[in-house]
Amino acid sequence: MITGHERRLQIDSLTDKGDGIGLLDGRQIYVTGALPGETVSVLLHGIKPRYAQGELQAVLQPHPARVANFCPHDSCGGCQLGMLDYPAQLDLKRQRLQASLAKRGIHTEVAPCLGMDVPLAYRNKALYAVRPGSQGAELGFFRKHSHDLVACDDCALQPSLVADLLVEVRAWLSACQIPPYDELQHTGVLRYLMLRDGRQSGEWMLVLVTLGEELPQVEDLLARLARFPALRSVVHNINPARGNRILGFDNRILQGDGVIEDELDGLRFSLSPLAFYQINPEQTRRLYQAALTLCGLTGQETVFDIYCGIGTISLFLARQAARVVGVELVPEAIEDARQNAARNGLAAKTEFFAGKAEEVVPALYRQGYRADVVVVDPPRKGCEPAVLQTMLAMAPRTLVYVSCDPDSLARDLAVLLSGGYRLEQVIPVDMFPHTLHVETVARLVRS
Ligand code: SAH
Repeated sequence: MITGHERRLQIDSLTDKGDGIGLLDGRQIYVTGALPGETVSVLLHGIKPRYAQGELQAVLQPHPARVANFCPHDSCGGCQLGMLDYPAQLDLKRQRLQASLAKRGIHTEVAPCLGMDVPLAYRNKALYAVRPGSQGAELGFFRKHSHDLVACDDCALQPSLVADLLVEVRAWLSACQIPPYDELQHTGVLRYLMLRDGRQSGEWMLVLVTLGEELPQVEDLLARLARFPALRSVVHNINPARGNRILGFDNRILQGDGVIEDELDGLRFSLSPLAFYQINPEQTRRLYQAALTLCGLTGQETVFDIYCGIGTISLFLARQAARVVGVELVPEAIEDARQNAARNGLAAKTEFFAGKAEEVVPALYRQGYRADVVVVDPPRKGCEPAVLQTMLAMAPRTLVYVSCDPDSLARDLAVLLSGGYRLEQVIPVDMFPHTLHVETVARLVRS
């Protein structure tokens, strides 16, 4: 195998990052932009003993559902499946979930992936890096596997008001010569912009993330933004740290009260800049509805919501249960959860605990807490063994597992299935159209 040679290749599968994989001369070849089943020609480089990179030159035999990519900025790497027809994306996600389960010996029927009606402009949060460009500060996203900026201010996954707001931000950056952040030198002023909207309330928040306390001529920016009545809050966030973390912990309100409100299925939530909130409101409603339906509540149950964030699922459950106990690592999120419960008249039915689920849930069990139904919604790495073991000891009649990672889901389901539960339903939900991510809700019942 020789660097720079063009070779023909058959793509067999996709990596977790969405690159196509094919085999040549005993090596796995990774090809960005190629789909399973396709024959492509690639330029070889990065040759290692077991693998190599193939730069896509031509698609010789396309996937039957290949379409022209809807996005002109595909080098940002955010949407790995932009060249696949939407129904085929949903099918692919279902198959990948089924394959992850099968690897753990779980052979079950996976329901069709619940998709969006119109899979565009779905994000309620936009994050832009601010970096030096050829003409001063440039806004955009990082290219895949790098911190090179792909300039972009019309991402199709975001509502069009983002682009309108960015016009004013750009005008301010250039008129006031705001120094962009230089990552290598760790100098400059403006590092990131975050925009967040309450889809139901129509309220917007802009967060300006700077390296230090200084934010020059911000009055100029606020004056330019005055033509957007939907912009309820503008917040200055200071992040002095090196590294990949976007927001710091120090927030200073520049306009409004520093929060926005949103509504999900009749429940009201207040969102501060750092609060975790699901990104796709239309699909969040579908996901939570599916989780709620799978719980099969009658109004009499005590329900645990483990990894509860700001209590969104907890409050969905509390409307139809006797009592909900929420557990979450981040103390500020638990504070938000308590306030959200009070705001929605559900404080008397809910109890929230801050701490590691693997410590708090066993401690609650020792204190005598029991559950009729348990919902878990862990981060990508899944549930700690102590959480799974305590769930099995509590022996609720129903377990509902909400997962953002099919592999950790499959691993944890295998434990629960050998602990006396039966898998009844597995429903994938498309929270991030055009990306490879898939969210899953699964229902287990005690056999
Ligand atoms: N159910 C919520 C949040 C799900 S995201 C929603 O739908 O909005 C997963 C949550 O798990 C995050 O809020 C994260 O802070 C929390 N988390 C991560 N590790 C944890 C741990 N060890 N114990 C408890 N919570 C944890």
